[in-house]
Amino acid sequence: MVIPEGQFVLKTVKNTGGKMSANRFLRVFQIASRLKGKVRRFLLCLFFPSRVQESVRKREGECDQCGACCKIVLSCPFLVEYGSHTECRIYNTFRPMACRSFPLDQRDLDDVNRQCTYSFPNKNPAEGREQLIVPVWRTGKNEG
Ligand code: SF4
Repeated sequence: MVIPEGQFVLKTVKNTGGKMSANRFLRVFQIASRLKGKVRRFLLCLFFPSRVQESVRKREGECDQCGACCKIVLSCPFLVEYGSHTECRIYNTFRPMACRSFPLDQRDLDDVNRQCTYSFPNKNPAEGREQLIVPVWRTGKNEG
C-alpha cells in the first residue's frame, strides 16, 4: 500500500518515539523541502507573476501529462489516473497558477525526481519565444 507522504511523517514521528533513523530523517527532510517548493511556487505565482512568466520562457519541452507534479507530497484530489495516463478534473476551469506554470526552475524538476519532460537549458531564452500561462480565472477578456 502506498502511504501518502503527509501520513508517512505522522506515522514516522509516532512510531519512533522521537528517535529517527538516518533514512527516515532524510525522508522527512525531503518532504519538508518539497513542501517548501510548493509554498515558494504558490507565493511566486501570487506576488511575482512577471518573474514566473520569465521562468516559463526559459524552459524547453512539453508536458507529457505524467502527473508527477500533481503528486508532490500529497496526491491532488482532482487528479484522475488511467494507467499511465492522467487527467486533471479542473484543468480548464480552476487549475491553480502554480500548477499551470510548473516547473519554474531546476529545483522544481528535483521535486519530481527529474521525471518531468521540461528542461532548463543554460542559455538565454530565444527572442520572441513565449509560452503563455493561462490565467487562473477565465474571463471574456483572456479566453483564447
Ligand atoms: S511533471 Fe512535468 S511532464 Fe509531468 S505532468 Fe507535471 S509538468 Fe507535465
